[in-house]
Amino acid sequence: MKLLNALKHRLESLYACLKVILRRSMKNASNQNPGTTCSNMNEPRIVILHCAVTPDSKKKDPGFDRFGAEDIDRWHRRRGFDEIGYHYVIRRTGEIEQGRDPRRVGAHCEGYNYNSLGVCLMGTREFTVEQMESVFKLIRRFRIKYGIKIDRWYGHYEFNHRKDCPNIPMICFRHLLRKGFDGNLTA
Ligand SMILES: [Zn+2]
Repeated sequence: MKLLNALKHRLESLYACLKVILRRSMKNASNQNPGTTCSNMNEPRIVILHCAVTPDSKKKDPGFDRFGAEDIDRWHRRRGFDEIGYHYVIRRTGEIEQGRDPRRVGAHCEGYNYNSLGVCLMGTREFTVEQMESVFKLIRRFRIKYGIKIDRWYGHYEFNHRKDCPNIPMICFRHLLRKGFDGNLTA
């Protein structure tokens, strides 16, 4: 009985210690990242390309080029997200729009959101020259800012085999752009 009491006492003090440690570590985490917790911080090491599955041409919809980040934000909220899941959106005109803050974990590719940037091209499978030029800009920007090389640009379908998104053969994409960058395409 004496032994049992001693054990109980030890467990209680251990439990009290753990509570203090836990409280302290939570306080530190919130001090480091005001307004957020560690769990929603993004550490981009790869880029995942998507398409928005909006119309590609006038033939399919006269207002095919009107959609952008604001629309995706609305669609994603309707699906229950707290905001747009992608970090960047490239409109048909080539304009690059900021979506979710890139420091925040995205919501665009299950299992890979914690270390990636989500880039979404408006359209479905026929992208404009201006959109591709903006992709080059982002390749350069992410290489400078995060050290992400062209080999670490992936398509959504490479992580989810039930998807075709973004309908770009990524092996060719990487191969061509690697060559392009060697030839100073964006220098
Ligand atoms: Zn996708």
